[in-house]
Amino acid sequence: MTSRADRVEARLGDRDAGQLLVTNLVNLRYLTGFTGSNGMCLLGAGVRRFITDFRYVTQARAQVHGFEVEPGPQDFLEALREGWPPGQLRMGFEDDHLTVRRHARLRDLLPETVELVLAGGLVEAERAVKEPGEIEAIRAASALADAALEAVLARGLVGRTEREVARALEEEMRDRGAEPSFATIVASGAHGARPHAVARDEPITPDTLVTIDWGAVLAGYCSDCTRTFATGSLTEAQREIYQTVERAQGASLEAVKAGAAGRELDAVARDLITDAGHGEHFGHGLGHGVGLQVHESPRLARTSVDVLRQGNVVTVEPGVYVEGVGGVRIEDLVVVGEAGCEVLSSLPKTLRIVA
Ligand code: ZN
Ligand code: ZN
Repeated sequence: MTSRADRVEARLGDRDAGQLLVTNLVNLRYLTGFTGSNGMCLLGAGVRRFITDFRYVTQARAQVHGFEVEPGPQDFLEALREGWPPGQLRMGFEDDHLTVRRHARLRDLLPETVELVLAGGLVEAERAVKEPGEIEAIRAASALADAALEAVLARGLVGRTEREVARALEEEMRDRGAEPSFATIVASGAHGARPHAVARDEPITPDTLVTIDWGAVLAGYCSDCTRTFATGSLTEAQREIYQTVERAQGASLEAVKAGAAGRELDAVARDLITDAGHGEHFGHGLGHGVGLQVHESPRLARTSVDVLRQGNVVTVEPGVYVEGVGGVRIEDLVVVGEAGCEVLSSLPKTLRIVA
């Protein structure tokens, strides 16, 4: 099997680059195994340089595989003054990550024979297709997050504040050996009409909708899931939006497979929600890739140009948010396969009452 660095090297031709400088720490971890906070690597034909400052050399020697570890000065960009092959070279850099200031510094210290070319997204494209071991890590994070939520739900929702529930859920994940992959969202009642509401110090009331969006990060890999619960009996309007989202979520899951375009999948959910009269109440994309980061490639959205590939791990999360009524979002994490998808989230999606 080829290494991750070999596969990224094979993509260098796309940008007509001879080498790639990787400064994004998540990409660096993906390629080399390094988890420290200061380092970079260079890769190209026959080139595998890993550079960090003296504080991380011991860690790098233990963690980094497939790259030559070079101790650099504290300002380790300096190490790039040297080590270049003779002749002209086009070096790709991560233009979606490197600051303007560091770019200027880099231009300053590189020899004139080295030309800087835009190469953002190359490592991310490789990261989007998960290896079996990565899928197992995401599956484990997802299972842990599900168990943590069940433990919290067993204590009930009504009368506790949104913030208490969010903190309890994060504590349950930590007790199980993980960290939250993002700040837990608990949004109830009218507040639920805001898709990315921050948990408040307001008690959750009976007879309303509560949306919980949470995830765990375990061994570096994230999970992401959302469920909406009823805390008692619902109004006709609340029930109707739940059913609409449930149907849209189910229909889009059915359509997920390798070869499907991110924008087509978004349209499956959006058309259904629009037909139900809620087109303007679904204000975000259908989903996103999940891996070392909770939001990564590919995207499932109206403006997406991505086409799903076998081994992508993505969320499918339509939502409807109605002012004065509340919000519903149902999100599953799935592995894209040749003919369909495997849902990693284990929690039921039929309307569940948790008082
Ligand atoms: Zn989420
Ligand atoms: Zn999500």
